[in-house]
Amino acid sequence: MNDFERFSSMDIEITVTYDNNKYMQDCGTGWGFSCFIRGAGRSVLFDTGGDGTLLLKNMKRLRIDTKEIDIIFLSHNHEDHVGGLQDVLQKNNGSIVYLPQSFPADIKNSIGHFRTKIVEVLEHGKLCKNVFTTGELGTAVKEQSLIIRTAKGCIVITGCAHPGIVSIVKHAKDLIMDDVFMVIGGYHLGSTSISEIKHIISGLQGLGVRYIGPCHCTGDTARQLFRERYRENYITIGAGRIIETRHLTWMKRSRVSRS
Ligand SMILES: [Zn+2]
Ligand SMILES: [Zn+2]
Repeated sequence: MNDFERFSSMDIEITVTYDNNKYMQDCGTGWGFSCFIRGAGRSVLFDTGGDGTLLLKNMKRLRIDTKEIDIIFLSHNHEDHVGGLQDVLQKNNGSIVYLPQSFPADIKNSIGHFRTKIVEVLEHGKLCKNVFTTGELGTAVKEQSLIIRTAKGCIVITGCAHPGIVSIVKHAKDLIMDDVFMVIGGYHLGSTSISEIKHIISGLQGLGVRYIGPCHCTGDTARQLFRERYRENYITIGAGRIIETRHLTWMKRSRVSRS
């Protein structure tokens, strides 16, 4: 069985559990980001938003049981991404927490208090079949991003993209050696000039990013510019949004051209 056949049945579902933008009326909003990924072998909670009470409320409304979480992936040590961690661990201490090695000892100790297993990430690596970390990237703020391999190419999820969204995607693409199907998360472009934002959008298009879902700290101007450039391939993200890859158009240019 080749890779194409092996992965073609794998549909990923990403539910946005926390964002400062609203998508579903029933979900609350707050500054921060979190999403829950099903279908990649093991269930992953990416970041935990800024407020645990709000995160747990949204998860309940979105019918996500905290017991479903196999892996908690923390992108970087900013309160709007790790703020809900303690509340989640109180509900489920059986998950494995993947965090950048640079996290301070007090956070690691607080997780250890729950007897939850911690994996400290320095280099890129595999979390489970089809799920990878870029490893700690950046200098001022160290951050890891999540990569999910699917039949349609890889999905990259960022927290705030402090190391630079283009640099992260390039890194992910080089690691997985595959097309980039979708990039979602915060891109941190709130105070970036319009010309620089346009340059960044071109950079992502140049890397072949098919679907784009900027949210959280991306900034309204940048989101609008992404929307104009990506048109029907722009994914509006906010708390309560569910993205199912089976509803998104097939791309896989490299494999199609080979057959
Ligand atoms: Zn953030
Ligand atoms: Zn941040």
